[in-house]
Amino acid sequence: MTLELSVVVPVYNEEEVLPLFVDRARPVMDSLGVSYEVVFVDDGSTDTSAAHLQRILRQWPEARVIRLRANAGHQAAITAGLARSRGQWMVTIDADLQDPPEVIGEMLRAAREGQVDVVYGVRTDRTTDSAFKRVTAEGFYKVMALLGAKGEFNAGDFRLMSRATVDAVLALPEHGRVLRLVVPTLGFPSAVVGYKREVRAAGDSKYPLSKMIKLTVDSVTGLSQAPLRLAIWLGFLGFVVAFGVGGYALVANALGQTVSGWTSTIFVISIFSAVQLLCLGILGEYVGRIYAMQRSGPSHYVGSDSLEDQGSSGREVFADPSRDE
Ligand code: UDP
Ligand code: MG
Repeated sequence: MTLELSVVVPVYNEEEVLPLFVDRARPVMDSLGVSYEVVFVDDGSTDTSAAHLQRILRQWPEARVIRLRANAGHQAAITAGLARSRGQWMVTIDADLQDPPEVIGEMLRAAREGQVDVVYGVRTDRTTDSAFKRVTAEGFYKVMALLGAKGEFNAGDFRLMSRATVDAVLALPEHGRVLRLVVPTLGFPSAVVGYKREVRAAGDSKYPLSKMIKLTVDSVTGLSQAPLRLAIWLGFLGFVVAFGVGGYALVANALGQTVSGWTSTIFVISIFSAVQLLCLGILGEYVGRIYAMQRSGPSHYVGSDSLEDQGSSGREVFADPSRDE
């Protein structure tokens, strides 16, 4: 069965929030006039969220619950929901009502009218976020932009995507993909809807510093090889310095300005450090190549095909390693 709209909601220990989410989102969804499903992804909650979701399931026919076996993190939870959604359009939205559900209708309209694949929810107002959150978030987007990230500044994970977009994202081979960086990289036609970030309806943030750091590391390594390149430059610099120190030790020895044993010690240390640093850099270069290879996705995505438009049986062919043909 295909539906017009799937709404994916990652849920991690949101017992206080879930009833509020349903109260607010359900009337909005029912008023859209499209067939829909709301896919709650229980990201291994350890509070009573699972029980809340079971109740929601009984009361709301359009609700659906996917439970992950263990806490996999926000991005992985969204990915799990997207992979199982049936909608032609898919929206990802936080459970804590920081992303207003009312905006979903606007997103759907923008997508249909503009005939675009992606509609980004862009936070026009973050005054309700804590100062710490704002500063870290701003730093995050600045660093990502420096590393060559494309896309909307201040767009989080509140966005609408077409099925083609989601299929494309899911086909990417990389692990730990950060959707807010990957989706703009596809370059599919997009539009933007602004919204005001609201305060969390209840409970505390499920994004402690450790999870923010993981998101940042995934983002940086997913985006660029710049850190690896740094290794080879530092290695080269270290090599030059170590070589200089070794030379200095030899000269000092020749001039007789050293205590016994000093020259050989310094010489050995500097030469071995130089070799190590250089080897590390070379290793980094090869790791970088492996990394580039495994991260390469399909070279293009077909938008339409006149053959298919005429109703013939033209079918897109994907390399599927699980099939021998
Ligand atoms: N979340 C999740 N798994 C996690 C952490 C968070 O599914 O490991 C969900 C959480 O329930 C919420 C969304 O991701 O629906 C965003 O998390 P949160 O609101 O805590 O992040 P913040 O808004 O503080 O950045
Ligand atoms: Mg939140």
